[in-house]
Amino acid sequence: MNFIVQKYGGTSIGTAERLKNVASIVKSTQESGVQPVVVLSAMSSVIKAQGTTSQLLKAIDALLTKGSYYKIIDEIEENHIKVIKDIITSPMALEATLQQVHAEFKSLKSFLDALQIIGEVSPRSYDIIISTGEKLAACIFAGLLNSNGIDACYVPLDTLIQESHSEVDRHFCAYARQEIRNKIESCGTSIPILTGFIGPIQGGIMSNIGRGYSDFTAALIAAALQATEFQIWKEVDGIFSADPNKVPQAHILKAISPNEALELSFYGSEVIHPFTMEQVQNAGIVVRIKNTFAPQKEGTLITDSIGTEKTIASAVTTKNNITILNVHSNRMLMSYGFMHKVFEILAKHKIVIDLISTSEANISMTLTNNELVENAIPELEKIGHVSVHKNMSIISLIGAQMHSKVGTASLMFAALKEANINIEMISQGASEINISCIIEGTNSIKALQAVHKLLET
Ligand code: ASP
Ligand code: MG
Repeated sequence: MNFIVQKYGGTSIGTAERLKNVASIVKSTQESGVQPVVVLSAMSSVIKAQGTTSQLLKAIDALLTKGSYYKIIDEIEENHIKVIKDIITSPMALEATLQQVHAEFKSLKSFLDALQIIGEVSPRSYDIIISTGEKLAACIFAGLLNSNGIDACYVPLDTLIQESHSEVDRHFCAYARQEIRNKIESCGTSIPILTGFIGPIQGGIMSNIGRGYSDFTAALIAAALQATEFQIWKEVDGIFSADPNKVPQAHILKAISPNEALELSFYGSEVIHPFTMEQVQNAGIVVRIKNTFAPQKEGTLITDSIGTEKTIASAVTTKNNITILNVHSNRMLMSYGFMHKVFEILAKHKIVIDLISTSEANISMTLTNNELVENAIPELEKIGHVSVHKNMSIISLIGAQMHSKVGTASLMFAALKEANINIEMISQGASEINISCIIEGTNSIKALQAVHKLLET
């Protein structure tokens, strides 16, 4: 069977109207002769911070600080029930869905009550709570399709992983894919509606994968089924050459390579969860980013087989709130093990390093989790002179076409010079797909606009 895996983000299914819209996209996919497999995130309003997952996280916080989590849960319940009553018209589907959703809230509440007595929330309990968001969304959506006369089958994945895996590694993924295939097979010809939550994961989904985990779950599903296409439906037309809120001239990219997409996800574009690409790339599956509000548009294709681009690079992106950490030491000269010591100290303090640039007596690194840096300074000072620069930005020019091409960096540097922006640090990997410069954070938008001019044809 030819499967198309469609993952819908929380905002795309955040209201009654939006759910109905997604139902019509799924229907027309089926009518086009392929079998859609739907993966849903938790419902979210326009702002992710107000979405169901964020609300559930707030309820956990309230529980831990002896606040009232009931108010939050009741609000989530009311919102979901209202949507169900708005969209599910067939009495049979309505009753079945309401029953499932009530049961979900009943068990969530008694679980939270039990946790409050214990006074702590383990990673596993955390997961059980947040999985409710995806379960509600998938259960309601399956109810909507059934109510519209489209045979759909609700598939929660929160208890899929029955083997113990200490890490989300190759073995975990292979096992998960096999279990997913079994689940989907049991749906027969109905459209499977799966939760974007997968579990249980040892140590918790939040620390192993983090927010946005539903992309990763969907990628596992696409890989498991060897899907013809993996579609990620969002509220934008696709991947832009730069953030259109900051660069009005930014354009939609027709196609980009998986490695470019990966770089873009790391450098602040939040296009897709970084773990996602690895799954689909290994399985050779084409990804397409589509807009739920403009389904007729082609979106952006993420594929290895892309034609030659006319521009010097594909996209430019910035990452803000960066800290530069500099360690200077004469001991680094002609000796081994110095960098190892630096990295060991940073690892001990759970500090994430993004870019590194070294000279004979100096090592400069950019860090994202700024607040932790203070903890590492006393130990670093024992091995060298330490300086820290906060509020910096990384500006990255990304494009597979930069490989073996002469002069791209010079164009980027010239554009920054034209805009009178000082470069504090430079980094380019041997894959030549990304040139990054660190600049003063206050110059970030100006730099983005200046460098983007190189991509405007
Ligand atoms: N619902 C989860 C979140 O808000 C997962 C996702 O959206 O992918 O992070
Ligand atoms: Mg998401």
